[in-house]
Parts: sequence; structure tokens; C-alpha cells
Amino acid sequence: MHSSLKVLLDIQELDIKMIQLMRIKRQRKGELKQIENLRLELQKQLKLKKEEIKDLSKQVHELEEKIQAHNAKYKKLEKQQVDVKKVEEFNALTREMTAIEREKASFETQTSNILDKKSQEEEILSKIHESLNASAINSEELENEIKLSIDKINKEGQLLKQERNKIAEHADIEVLKIYERLIRNKKDRVIVPIENRICSGCHITLTLQHENLVRKGETLVFCEHCSRVHYWLESESIEGTTVATKRRRRRTVKA
Ligand SMILES: [Zn+2]
Repeated sequence: MHSSLKVLLDIQELDIKMIQLMRIKRQRKGELKQIENLRLELQKQLKLKKEEIKDLSKQVHELEEKIQAHNAKYKKLEKQQVDVKKVEEFNALTREMTAIEREKASFETQTSNILDKKSQEEEILSKIHESLNASAINSEELENEIKLSIDKINKEGQLLKQERNKIAEHADIEVLKIYERLIRNKKDRVIVPIENRICSGCHITLTLQHENLVRKGETLVFCEHCSRVHYWLESESIEGTTVATKRRRRRTVKA
């Protein structure tokens, strides 16, 4: 194994943990956002409903004013009729009064329809109120839980970062840079072993020549298919690293 890789394997394990941690953090933040969006949506509905109801009240008020005006006009005509002498005039007034009555009846029907609609809308409004209150109670607990877990993730992340920085002091800077660029792109392990002449990153079979180069471990050898850096797993040089320990443990379990 290329000598600079041992340290990087330890860094890689910490980075993978960090990537997983950040993935969970993003998920949890998404959950918070969802709760918030639901609340905003309900508040928007509430506002719209209130405006609708206000508008209906205004319509009712306008119709009531028209009805009152019609009543006044009707009474005035009624009084005029008393003093009228000619039949034609009397009949003309009667026609006018009938027309007013008809219009008034139509206004009253409209008013009653709008009032029906208004009471339906008020029912919906109170349901929106209820769900807002219910979701406030339900989501508060959930939100607190999510916030706590994000705090925990942040603390864990800090520790990982500290540990990583400490190890990174011992890494070859140039190789570290290459590694960091690779893992930033792949968000996955980028220093991987060859197993049965197959890249364990992209699972494509490699040439014997490539395998020999990796086995020698004199230079960094990149997978020509996925650009990951390869190392030779059976090499004695990985003894003591995280990977070696893990593999040994796995073997022990199997046995
Ligand atoms: Zn590969």
C-alpha cells in the first residue's frame, strides 16, 4: 500500500460518518420545514377564509341597505296613492309598487343565499382554526424533538471534525487534497480495496497490470473507470488501521 494511504483511510472513515451525519441533518431539517409549511398553509387558508367571510358580510350589508331603501320608496308611493284622484295614476303607482316588491323579494332571496354561504364558510373557518390548534400542539413536541436531534448531530459533527483535524496533521498534503476533491464529488468512499481484481467502488474488473501496480504500492493508482484510489487489501501494511480491524472482526464473526 502506498504509504500515504494509511492515514487517509482513517480520515475517510470519519468523513463517511460525517457525510452520513449531514444527510440525517438535512432530512431532519426537511421535516422541520414540512411542519412549518403545513402551518403556513393553514394560516394562509385561515386568512383567505376570513376575507371571504368579510366580503360576504359586506354583500349582505349592501343588500340590506337596498331592501331598506325599497321599503322607504314603497311607503312613499303608498302615501302618494292615497291622494291620487285619477285611476290611471293610481294604477301606475300600483305597477311601480309591484315592481319594487318584486325587486325587494329578489334582494331578500339573494341575502338569504349569501347568509347560507356565510354560515358554511364560518364552519370551515372554525375547522381550520381547530386544525391549526391541533397541529400547533402536535408539532411542538415533534419540532422540539427534531431540534434536539439536530443539536446532537452538530455536537457529534464537531467531535468528528476535531478528530479528523488531528489525524489530518499526519497526512500527506498533496494526497489529502486529491482525496478531498474525490470524496467531495462522490460523497462515498474513494480509497477502496481491489478484491478479486475488481474495484470495490465501481465493481468493474481491472487489468492484471493495474492489480500489480496497486500491489506494489509505490505510487497512487486510480481506478480508470471511477477515479477512486486503489489499495491492496491483503497487504501487511494496513494492519492496525480501521479497515484491517473491521475486516478481521468480520472474519471472526463468520468463523
Ligand atoms: Zn472503480
